[in-house]
Amino acid sequence: MSTPYPPHQYPYPQQQQPGPYPYQQPPGPGCEVCGAMPAAPVTVRGHQGMVVVMRFLRRQGVLCRTCGLAVARKMQADTLVQGWWGPLSMLITPFVLLLNLGELSRIRKLPPPATAAWRPPLDPGRPLLRRPAGLVALVPLLALAGLVLAVPVLFVIGMAVDSRGSGHPTLTPGSCARNVADWPEQDLRPADCGSPDAEFRVYWPDDPSCGPGDYYAYPEYSRNGDLSLCLHPVRN
Ligand SMILES: [Zn+2]
Repeated sequence: MSTPYPPHQYPYPQQQQPGPYPYQQPPGPGCEVCGAMPAAPVTVRGHQGMVVVMRFLRRQGVLCRTCGLAVARKMQADTLVQGWWGPLSMLITPFVLLLNLGELSRIRKLPPPATAAWRPPLDPGRPLLRRPAGLVALVPLLALAGLVLAVPVLFVIGMAVDSRGSGHPTLTPGSCARNVADWPEQDLRPADCGSPDAEFRVYWPDDPSCGPGDYYAYPEYSRNGDLSLCLHPVRN
């Protein structure tokens, strides 16, 4: 039996079609620390508060992803710890941290180094939230968040207290009320007619004045705020 084809018609595994190289040489300069490519311009900021004086730091360079992460994380970690120590620094540090967060996410989008580094790259270390610095910084960050949240919360509480202070309950004819202020001041509250708290029965003025010896409630206690209801003492 003979094979239909000469046994060594394809003596070698077929050559791969020449085409794009497994990776394309990325254009642009290499990382200025390790030489790997791709690399991109990176600007990271830092801040140190020193109670009275403060220091702004800036690190700029063309870096690969690995070295960029290392520089940015180091700067961010240092700022997280050293940034807060001054009245102005407390305000500046969050902005510096936010700027760096933007830069960090830009660095993370860089493809990993595709060419060999000719010097060892920097060690990017662990992400910030898994470092002690990240935990230390949670304290001032939470305090700041608390402050930021406290302002609207206090405002709302203030509004609620204010509206309760100036609002008047509505009295309806037939119900009972008491005055917790001293006459002629009026701070009328609805009261259960069966309870000893009830001082007055509220009634509609008939003719249109109230009976002798009865009180006039301020108009704001009526439903529409435009009519003085009468208050007839129920005890005496
Ligand atoms: Zn590098």
